[in-house]
Order: sequence, then structure tokens, then C-alpha cells
Amino acid sequence: MSVPYWLDLPNEAYPPLDADETVDVAVVGGGVTGLACARVLAAAGVRVRVLEARGVGGGASGRNGGFALRGGAEPYPATRARELWALTEGALARLPELAGDAFRHVGSLRVAASDEELAAVRDEHDALREDGFAVEWVEAGELPPLLRPHFLGGLRNPPDGALEPGRWARRLAALAARAGAAIAEGTRVTAVEPGAVRAGPHTVSCGAVVVATDGYSDGVLPELAAAIRPARAQMLATAPLTERHFDAPVYAREGWDYWQQAPDGRLLIGGWRDAELEREFTSVDEPTPTLQARIEEFAGRLLGSPPSVTHRWAGLLGFTEDLRPLVGELREGVWVSAGYSGHGNVLALACGELVAQAILGRPAPELELFEAGVERARN
Ligand SMILES: Cc1cc2nc3c(=O)[nH]c(=O)nc-3n(C[C@H](O)[C@H](O)[C@H](O)COP(=O)(O)OP(=O)(O)OC[C@H]3O[C@@H](n4cnc5c(N)ncnc54)[C@H](O)[C@@H]3O)c2cc1C
Repeated sequence: MSVPYWLDLPNEAYPPLDADETVDVAVVGGGVTGLACARVLAAAGVRVRVLEARGVGGGASGRNGGFALRGGAEPYPATRARELWALTEGALARLPELAGDAFRHVGSLRVAASDEELAAVRDEHDALREDGFAVEWVEAGELPPLLRPHFLGGLRNPPDGALEPGRWARRLAALAARAGAAIAEGTRVTAVEPGAVRAGPHTVSCGAVVVATDGYSDGVLPELAAAIRPARAQMLATAPLTERHFDAPVYAREGWDYWQQAPDGRLLIGGWRDAELEREFTSVDEPTPTLQARIEEFAGRLLGSPPSVTHRWAGLLGFTEDLRPLVGELREGVWVSAGYSGHGNVLALACGELVAQAILGRPAPELELFEAGVERARN
């Protein structure tokens, strides 16, 4: 039951590492970050090995809400981080090509449950608009009918869309493999050292290491243990609904609650982490009965009748102090891209590629957006 709906599909497995080897770059973690990084490196002729403890997309990349959102976890009006938002718009624009039909360009809807939240959403709308980003205000009466009893209005982000995360991660793995990256599933890295990573009895000697473990970073590097706090987020999937209620993914209560209706009619819904906030700061990615009951009860209220639940699962988010990921060279030859603070679908693609470009000797100016966080983690 705790298999994520997104990963409940036939899988073409990549064999585990079974011998020592030498490559140019070893990537720890086969989620979107690691795979995006590996694809770009391999396409440039670099010998890359991706080492994934579970299966590709087995971490947050195959367990998430599937929201492909512009920006980061930090609220836009507070930071006006224009370059960061522009970086993610660039990555979003490439998703149709990269993710194929695992991505639907349908926008996203942020809705407000209280007058106070409506004012905050209005601030976000105005700030984005002032800075030249496409955004649309949605009056209460224009919301999808099921939302009207619960929400007061909101905004639509036209560049956003909906992903099927498991299919997307596996497709990206196939693209990376086709570009020449070697992928090992079922291979847990047990030590990261200068010039080598160890996976049980085997050693991968390498010129550089990329650590791409986001909320799953526990025990990988001491710097990350101090800089990234893991938290659990839980979701469920219903049986296909008979009607189509939501074209775009919806997030509410400042993102605490989120859902999308998949192409086959299922509702994929998660949230309510704030109901048990301290308990959910954990690195155990198993669902719990109490929080699942909260999500199920909310889904029932939204739909007007109790849903029939087919899948329940949890995944890990990696929070940083300022909600901005750590992206850059943490120690000589050891790179990191992790700590997306729950907002990593599009950023993971953008940041994994930023690290690859830097390793190739052509660092993009956007890497500077993440310098302060990496500097903090180094010290
Ligand atoms: C329930 C949930 C809902 C979310 N919803 C959204 C959303 O709608 N939109 C959004 O933008 N973001 C969302 N996120 C966040 C987003 O999923 C992540 O930020 C993103 O997937 C991170 O990708 P990644 O590749 O960096 O990390 P992951 O996909 O977590 O990959 C890390 C991988 O590292 C592997 N690993 C860890 N340690 C080792 C080791 N020692 N050796 C080898 N491998 C190792 C893990 O097995 C894992 O597969 C959500 C997250 C969760 C959990």
C-alpha cells in the first residue's frame, strides 16, 4: 500500500554496481537532480556513473505532488528573486521536450482559504506582475466549482504545469543512459571521499562527485546533515473519479495542501504536514495513519463524498535555513545540489544542469544565486 501511485508501473531496472570502476564523475542519487546532471555531462562526453540506493525516482522525485512550478520555496514578494524565477521558467519551457507526455502544460492554481491568505496571494500576484512575470488573478466565482465553497479566489501561474513524477524520472533516466551515463540502481553509497565514492565493497574512483540526495541526505556528508533538515510529506491517490474537476494542479493554505487530478481521473492529494509539524521532521518516509486520515477527510470534503483510496505513501523534503537549495562545490571535487525545501521539481532540473555545466568548466552566472548557502554549509 505504501508504493507511491506514480511508481506503481512496470520498470526497466538498471543493474547494481558489481565491480570497482573509474569514471570522470560519480553522481550520488538517481532523482531528477542527479539524472539531469548526468544527462548533460554524458552528452558532453564525460564518463558518468549514477549510483542510486533504491530505483531511479525512488526518492522524492517519484513521490511528489507533480507540481511543475516556477520559482522556489521562498515567497516571491519577500525576496523578489527575479533571476531564480527566470531560471525556473527556462527549465519549465524545456519540460515538454524532455518529459514528453509525462508533463501537461496546464498552469497551476494557488488558492486562498482566508482573507489574510487572499491578501498574501494578491501581494504575490502584484509583485510577479510588476516584475514582468505572466500571472492571472482568479476571482472566487471563476474557481473550479468544487473549490468555491472552500476558497476565496487566487492566482494562476500560466507557465506551470503538471508532471507524472515517476514516469518523468524514468524518462530522464532513459535520456541520461542514451547520452552515455551508466546508472546503477540498488547501490547505496557508503562513503564520499576525495576522488572516490564507496558503495559497500566497491569503489568508484572519479575526478568529481555530485551529491544529489535532497531530503535523503542523512549520512551522506556531514556538511549536509547540518544544513539540510529532512521532513516527511504524505500523499494518497484515489480511484479514478467519474468527473474531471481540476485541469491544473491546485495548492492551498500557503502550499500546505496540494492536489492534482491525473489524466486517468484519479485525485492525487497531499498535505496537512502542519497538523503534526514536529513529528513530520523525520527521515522515515512511511505514511502514518493520523495524517493519512486528515488528508482523506479533506479530500472527502473537497469532493463532497468519501474517496476510495488506492495508494498511500510518503516522501522526504530537504529544508534549508533560507529555503534556497545548496548548489555548488562544497569541497574540492565534491559538488552538491540539494535542499529544495519542498519545491524541487523544476529547480532540480535547472540546478542539476547548473552543476553539470560548472563541472564542464562553463559555469552559468545563475550559480551565484546559490553561493551564500553553499558558503554557509562549508563553514
Ligand atoms: C510528498 C512530496 C510532495 C512534493 N511535491 C512537490 C511538488 O508538487 N512540486 C515540487 O516542485 N516539488 C515537490 N516536492 C519536492 C520534490 O519532489 C523534490 O525537491 C525533488 O524531487 C528533489 O529531487 P532530487 O533528485 O534532488 O532528490 P530525490 O528525488 O529525493 O533523489 C535523491 C535520491 O538519492 C538517493 N540516495 C540517498 N542517499 C543515497 C546514498 N547514500 N547512495 C545512493 N543513493 C542515495 C535516494 O534513494 C533518492 O532516490 C515534493 C516532495 C514530496 C516528498
